[in-house]
Amino acid sequence: MLSYESGKQLILENVQPLEIENRLLSQSRGFALAGDIIASHPMPLFNNSAVDGYAVRSKDLEQSSGSARTRLKNLGYLYAGVPELIELDQGCCVQIATGAPVPDSADAIVMKEDVELDGDEVIFQQPIAPQENVRFQGEDIAEGKMMLPSGIEIGSAQLALLATFGHAQVPVFGKPSVSIISTGNELVDVDRQPEPGQIRESNRFMLEGLVREAGCDVDRVLMVPDDPLKLKAEFEAAMDSDVILISGGMSVGDHDFAKPLLKELGVEEIFWKVSVKPGKPLFFGKLEKSLIFGLPGNPASSYVIFMEFTLPALRRMRGCRLLEKDWVEARLSDAVPPGISRLHLMRGQLNAQGKEYRVRPLPFQGSHSISSLVEANALIWIDPHSPAMPAGTPVKVRPLDNEIVMEPF
Ligand code: AMP
Ligand code: MG
Repeated sequence: MLSYESGKQLILENVQPLEIENRLLSQSRGFALAGDIIASHPMPLFNNSAVDGYAVRSKDLEQSSGSARTRLKNLGYLYAGVPELIELDQGCCVQIATGAPVPDSADAIVMKEDVELDGDEVIFQQPIAPQENVRFQGEDIAEGKMMLPSGIEIGSAQLALLATFGHAQVPVFGKPSVSIISTGNELVDVDRQPEPGQIRESNRFMLEGLVREAGCDVDRVLMVPDDPLKLKAEFEAAMDSDVILISGGMSVGDHDFAKPLLKELGVEEIFWKVSVKPGKPLFFGKLEKSLIFGLPGNPASSYVIFMEFTLPALRRMRGCRLLEKDWVEARLSDAVPPGISRLHLMRGQLNAQGKEYRVRPLPFQGSHSISSLVEANALIWIDPHSPAMPAGTPVKVRPLDNEIVMEPF
């Protein structure tokens, strides 16, 4: 069976970033930048005042101290946003607002709180060092500096930078549109009381949430019984999406129709089954521009497989440079028995203790476990055939963005 690594590689080899589009800056949040952003000018743009105070020639205040105070004549008020050419001669100062351009003839700003006023004269009690309270042109960002690499996701901080450098329009990669189809005769809607043998359908909601958290658009979300005609019609209709997620019906049961139906529709199977627990029956295929993920019906399997295989693919389509969160090292809080023949991605609780991460494998790891979905904030990597590991063994852990109620350990 295909290894975790080969499965992931096969998926990523078949995924391309979507087309680049230009978006208004105000509508670019959550998209990935298509192209590097280089500083087209220095920041600050010009030398300006860091405080509300008085622009002075520091030389004029050299003698100020204690009772030897210095009086300078105030020539006016320099406001932010109003360029004003003013020449400070010896014995003069000028009031200045935060952000106002500093006159070339001044070299420091004394804070308003540190002076006394006497008519149009300003009284200074202390000397000031040259350059104090001046924000210099280019001290934050030099012209030509690479500020944002292509593929970075535009969040609030990036919006500020893009606005500062005048990017009213931003080139970004498109967002994939996703259709989600849950399959199963036993499934009933959330507002129904399950009859004997039935269960309420949950994967649709979970997968829609994961898709939206991944920054993608959702085209349609459906629940379809194991009826080949209905399934085929819905699969066919979904093929206008960039990505189709099918939950359930991918195994070897008599009612697992999804795979043969996809084949009938012309979907090219790239692989079926991957040597991972939970989630073995993962199907991945392609039809023209659409990618098809057949996810296991078991909710915990579906979640883990989405996180490990679908999410990086969606992020690559979005043009993101980071496809997944890094693994971190944590120490096991409890012993783990010898590994099975597949890679086991155990659900666990990750906790930072001082400088060290500790992780507790959840005691119940069933692939149908709904509790594990709300109790886990991490996946623990247990190699195939790994020996038993005592508490304290360092392991690889993938943090999940999931708020949990942590049980003390
Ligand atoms: P399947 O992959 O279709 O063989 O389903 C595997 C297990 O997951 C079965 O116990 C199903 O009842 C359950 N299951 C399948 N789809 C869903 C779903 N959408 N929501 C909740 N449980 C599901
Ligand atoms: Mg089923």
